Amino acid sequence: MDLLESIRDAGVIGAGGAGFPTHVKLGSKADYLLMNGAECEPLSRADQYIMDVYPDEVIKGFAIAKEICQADKAIIGIKGVHDDLIAHMNERIAALGMSDVMEIGALPNIYPAGDEHVIVHELTGRVVPEGGIPIAAGCIVINAETTYNIYRASEGKPVTEKFVSIVGDVPNRITVKVPVGTPVLTLLKLAGITDTTGLACINGGPMMGMPMKDGIGGYVTKKSKEFVILPSNHGHWKRKTISLEAARRVDKTSCEQCRMCTDNCPRHLLGHNLQPHMSMRVMNYDLKSIELKATAQLCSSCGLCEYYSCPIGLYPKSANDILKNELREKGIKYQPTKTEFKPLRMRSSRLIPSKRLISRIGLTQFDLPAPFTEVPESEINEVKIMLHQNVGAGCEPIVAVGDHVEVGQMIGKIPEGKLGAPVHASIAGSVSEITPEYIAIRRG
Ligand code: SF4
Ligand code: SF4
Repeated sequence: MDLLESIRDAGVIGAGGAGFPTHVKLGSKADYLLMNGAECEPLSRADQYIMDVYPDEVIKGFAIAKEICQADKAIIGIKGVHDDLIAHMNERIAALGMSDVMEIGALPNIYPAGDEHVIVHELTGRVVPEGGIPIAAGCIVINAETTYNIYRASEGKPVTEKFVSIVGDVPNRITVKVPVGTPVLTLLKLAGITDTTGLACINGGPMMGMPMKDGIGGYVTKKSKEFVILPSNHGHWKRKTISLEAARRVDKTSCEQCRMCTDNCPRHLLGHNLQPHMSMRVMNYDLKSIELKATAQLCSSCGLCEYYSCPIGLYPKSANDILKNELREKGIKYQPTKTEFKPLRMRSSRLIPSKRLISRIGLTQFDLPAPFTEVPESEINEVKIMLHQNVGAGCEPIVAVGDHVEVGQMIGKIPEGKLGAPVHASIAGSVSEITPEYIAIRRG
């Protein structure tokens, strides 16, 4: 079996939140292989700890990925502010004899440093074209935890564990390695929360994560990164959970077309034709121009315009979401008008420091370490493994209720001829339930 097949069979997908099957991503030839260790979401911690606690696995996995995609250069992107981590990784790269294979690139402490388009520009000087993915600029970007999983796949170990941080308004902020399928409520217990009354949870970062609007619950997937707990009356939670209809009503009353949302937009600053103030104008005045509406599809949903830039607290990202929905229904896609893109001259003076963003969204009091903490096996006695965790098709179960399964045993396979990634048992035990959404396993 070659390395790419090992990675496919191990079920490796983008661990940073995107969930794209890694064997497909690495199937292209790249000039640059980049590791996203930016951890740009406010309060995010897990990648730092993976690199700190498992540097050799991450480095070896990155070298394997470089060999597969035959990249000329491999660069690990870490924010310059983490100088201890950079020194630690440099020391391990040298000790493993990999100094000729890869290097570390220091990223600025800005949001969103981890956006694939931003990291490509910061580390290579290239610009990914509008509506494109990094390979269009000769780059492949993979997350730090993904490289850890690539190394384990090369050793015949499938993805059965996940690193997640539990941060925000919790007694013990922690980063843990738990079996895929662990209940979120168990994580909260580990962080010292037994009663969730008055609390809200975001699955993912405060900016781009999904708010759990129907109450705190669910299970860890291969894409989970962090769970942010906030008081349910916190201003950021309220802004994040506003409905598109309510956002549209507020937007219509007040947009003064000051352009601050556009001037700070990370994709606009890279020279893309994305102008959220124009999306507001199109929506508020019901303009019919398809060309203007379609630019909304260039939005990465980073949330900067909505949670930081607008001086009067409007919702330009939501305006883009509304336009994107309309265009999707009509089957319309943005057509780029050029092929070469250059960042705007004022870009460097418009980058938004992470600390300022954290303060603006009211999270400074929670911006604290979340140290890596070992979790005893006995804490997790049941898991629910979601059948659809990746971009592409969901898995077909290949076990039955009552079957005994071992850790690492494949329990769901990719449907024939589809893009996908298999899922594996994350604890040893018996299959207790199978539904169209998940396979449950009880330990023992
Ligand atoms: S949405 Fe806000 S930032 Fe953007 S143009 Fe309108 S008022 Fe200005
Ligand atoms: S969410 Fe706003 S700032 Fe972010 S890419 Fe979209 S338009 Fe630009």
